[in-house]
Order: sequence, then C-alpha cells, then structure tokens
Amino acid sequence: MLPSANHDLARLLSVLHQSEERILAWQSALTASRALPPEHGGDGELAKAQWLETLLQSLAITDLKRFDAKDARVSSGLRPNLICRIPGQSPQTLWIFSHLDVVGPGDLSAWSHDPWSVHRQGDLIFGRGVEDNQQGMVSSLLLAHALMTQKITPRLTLGLVFMADEECGNRFGLSHILASAPQLFSEHDYYLVPDFGRPKAELIEVAEKATCWLKITTQGEQCHASTPQKGHNAFVAGSAIVLALSQELPKRFPESNPLFSPPYSTFVPSRHEANVQGINIVPGRNIFYLDCRILPEIPPQRVLEAVEELVQTISQNYGVTSRVTLEHEQRASAMDATHPHLKVLQEAVKAVYGLTPRIGGVGGGTVAALLRQRGLPAMVWACLLDTCHSPDEHASLTAIQNDSCVFAQILMQGHD
Ligand SMILES: [Zn+2]
Repeated sequence: MLPSANHDLARLLSVLHQSEERILAWQSALTASRALPPEHGGDGELAKAQWLETLLQSLAITDLKRFDAKDARVSSGLRPNLICRIPGQSPQTLWIFSHLDVVGPGDLSAWSHDPWSVHRQGDLIFGRGVEDNQQGMVSSLLLAHALMTQKITPRLTLGLVFMADEECGNRFGLSHILASAPQLFSEHDYYLVPDFGRPKAELIEVAEKATCWLKITTQGEQCHASTPQKGHNAFVAGSAIVLALSQELPKRFPESNPLFSPPYSTFVPSRHEANVQGINIVPGRNIFYLDCRILPEIPPQRVLEAVEELVQTISQNYGVTSRVTLEHEQRASAMDATHPHLKVLQEAVKAVYGLTPRIGGVGGGTVAALLRQRGLPAMVWACLLDTCHSPDEHASLTAIQNDSCVFAQILMQGHD
C-alpha cells in the first residue's frame, strides 16, 4: 500500500472511532420509522428508505438509484430498494448489503422499553431493528459518511445496497434488484452481508442450509364445546401433527455436517394462526407453520414427502383432513471456502478485532444465498450479539464502529 493510502486509512479509522453520537442519532431515526412488512402488520419500508436517501444526498453522493418493486399491500404501492456508490480508484467494488425491513416486536410486555424508541445503557442500544439489520446499515453508512466528509477516494469503489423484504422472502427486495439490474454485480467484486455474526466477530459464514416454510391447514368440524362429539376438533388434531413433526423429522433426517451450527437439520413449528373467538367453541380449522432448515446434502423434496406422509396419517386417525403448502423456499448455498476474498476479510477482522475468524456454515438464510446462486462470492460477517427477533433486541456501539473499521480496511487495502 502507498504511504498516502496508509495515511487515508488512518484518517478514516480515527473518524470512525468517534461515531457514538452519530450512531445514536441514526439508529434512533431508523428505529422510529417502523419498517414492518405487510406480513407483520406494517406498511413497508418507504419512510426508512426516504430517510436514507436524504442522508446520502446530504453527503453529496450522486450515484444513487432506486429499484422499487410494486406491492399493492402497502399504502404507497412500493417496496423500495436503494443503491448508492462512491467511486474508488478501481471499478472493483466492495458491496455491502443491508435490509430495511424489521420483524414485529412480538409480545410488548416482554420489552423493558418501547421497541420503537432507542434506549441506551452503557455501550448497548436497545430497540427493534438496532441489530437486525441496522447495525450493518449504520456501520456501512458510517464508512460512506467518513469517505465523503474526509474527501478520501478509496482504492475500491464502495457500493451500499439497502433492500426491502428480507424477512419475508426477498421477492420485493434483492430478488427484484437482481432481476432489474444484474449488470451491476461482477464476480470480481467483494460481497459482504453483515446480517449474521458472532459476539466476538469470530465467524465468517460461507454456507447456508436450505430454508422451507410450510403451512399446515387442518380442517375438522366446528361445534359447541359442551358437545364435542358432534364435531372434529381441528386444534387437537393440529397439535398431534405439531408433536409428530417435531419428534419424527429429526429421527428421519439425522445427518450431521460439522460446517454448521447446529450440525443437523432443524424442523421448528413456529407460527400458529388465531382460531375461534369463544372459549365455548370447538375449532373447526387449525393453521400452523413449520420452519425447516435443511442440510445441503438432503434434498428438500425428501423432507416435504415425509411431512406430507406424517400429516396425512395423523389426520386420518383424528377424522380430519389436512393440506400442506410450501410458503417459501430458499435453496442451500455455499461459496468456495478457499476463495481469496475470505483471506482479505480475515485479515481485516484480525486488524480490528485481534482474532482470525473461522469459516463455517449456518442455518441461514441471508440474502447471501441469492448472490451465491448467481456465482457471486458472498461472505456473511459482522460482530453481533445475536439478539435479533428477540424482545430487548440490542447492539453494541463499539461493535458498530469496529465493523465499519473492518469495511474500511477492505476498501482501502483489498486486492484480488
Ligand atoms: Zn436480518
């Protein structure tokens, strides 16, 4: 590296290390925008995207493009995607992906504070979305901010991608961007997805299990609860199906792969839809969902067949009928675990966090899967406390600053 580049990197790092107030302000605005997708009872991500667009414009970033997807379920009719680039000496780009949407807060009584208003306690900030995925969003924005205010031209071009619809399938998010503008992304570029990570920054994720979300609808017969013999209780039958699937599927698919943690496939009954309004009604319909994360060596079709067989057998025993539908599917994905970009990221993490992160796989799924399926070597890394989707979700101010320093290291030093 040239002495001037060294000097620029040092300047960047020193600015990034003094970002606490900026992080608090940005995290507060982003959290308050409540970017809930329609599936979580929200009105989408537009307010959050507009806030980001205004911020990026105020930094005099001119290469700014929107790739909005149409979605009639939100009041604006739009699910926004925003891409900005800051040109470097080389067109080779460090792309950093973060998603705009957040999940619902869940049980509000489980939160110590209002989830939509950022609360600080020492080095930690609390609020829905502060970790998932506003940590990645803010750490990448800090770098853009530092480059523009310090008037530094980095070695690589910096590309920030802010996406809608990550939590509910990516159809209006990265899938839409990739379909609209495939020419943006080259196999020589760096791809970072800071949407999963370990508390000491010790893992780079290079592989993800397949994701299958199944909806299981059981139809019985509704009647008065004082005369249950006149109907067929779909809730009881559905509960028997829940138990059978959670006990049987792990036995039928015991395969293990040490790249992953946990090393086996998982089959988790998760959401249950509300049924009848009265306590004195035998429910005639039961709907629940199963979240399956399947090792790459198991064809997801085999799992679907096993689920179908178990569901039909139990339904017959209970005198009800059931239907299994596939709500969402993402194939397993992996990048080459010896790809040279991994070494660059490992060195950048070592320079900032003092340890060399190991390379491994997870249950997934991040948007890295969509990139890898197109042959783009997407690395998933961040220093995260892993509180995403939980009550009292929180993030570390220090980690947000440090993550942006890791991105800066790659941007100023990375080469093929
Ligand atoms: Zn996320």
